Amino acid sequence: MRLLACSNCHTQYEASAFVGPELECRCGTVIPNRLAVGLEAAIHRCSACGGQVSADCHSCGYCGSEIIRDLRGPSLICPECLARNPETARYCAACGVGFRPEPIPSQGKEWPCPACSGLMPVRSIGGIEINECPNCQGLWIPDHRFDELMSRACETALQTEKDKVWSKSPRCSSSNPSMEKIVYRKCPVCDRAMQRANFQKRSGVIIDRCHAHGTWLDADELECAAGYILESQRRAEFAPGNFRSQNKAQIRREAAALARAQRGESVALASSRDAVSSGGWLGDLLGALLN
Ligand SMILES: [Zn+2]
Ligand SMILES: [Zn+2]
Ligand SMILES: [Zn+2]
Ligand SMILES: [Zn+2]
Ligand SMILES: [Zn+2]
Repeated sequence: MRLLACSNCHTQYEASAFVGPELECRCGTVIPNRLAVGLEAAIHRCSACGGQVSADCHSCGYCGSEIIRDLRGPSLICPECLARNPETARYCAACGVGFRPEPIPSQGKEWPCPACSGLMPVRSIGGIEINECPNCQGLWIPDHRFDELMSRACETALQTEKDKVWSKSPRCSSSNPSMEKIVYRKCPVCDRAMQRANFQKRSGVIIDRCHAHGTWLDADELECAAGYILESQRRAEFAPGNFRSQNKAQIRREAAALARAQRGESVALASSRDAVSSGGWLGDLLGALLN
């Protein structure tokens, strides 16, 4: 575990997975994300109960815990005095401060929804912060993290719910996109009209993009896009003769066949869109990704 402490209010944060240059404490103070070098410090406190102990004792006079003096292996560096402590310490053995880290507060911002203009709170999916509109269930994926989100969604689905995911169709509740009136959504950050793009050129899933600020998905579009990727992969894997063949010419032939199949399939999909029922598998998938 790696801790960072605020120099102003002394709130501690669990920063093991935090990679940004700095984080903003809930009190507003900016905490630089420095990797601390641990010091070998004299032991004055029991790391289990925080009670005072003498310099040479082997167990705590209050709680009976062993006083660990050999700190090989992983250690916890006190964010206040930089003393090295056992990884399991609840108190710093040198300065006695309690280790009570909080999760790092969200660094994301609430943005107005491009579809219904309510405010979209931040939520984390697989460690990626996105904004979800509570009214229309659209998703705003800030910056260039859309591809990362998609690949994580698909990876998780493939690892954990292979059969479950593949046995169900993606949920598409909206009507045929070609029949819908074209609406240019505005970027919630810069308020300029976003570009519309057909996800992976022929999926039929229209995503809205501001190249400077992020990607917008209407309700169900993440499910449709993930479903499209998984379905393409499934077809590639089960294509006849494709049992881990390393023959490049064969792979090229199969890619061409897959492309033809997809063209045929996308026509069929467009007309049967309304009939595709809710599998609900993405809910399970997102559940697995939530941390
Ligand atoms: Zn603070
Ligand atoms: Zn103790
Ligand atoms: Zn300390
Ligand atoms: Zn909305
Ligand atoms: Zn923008």
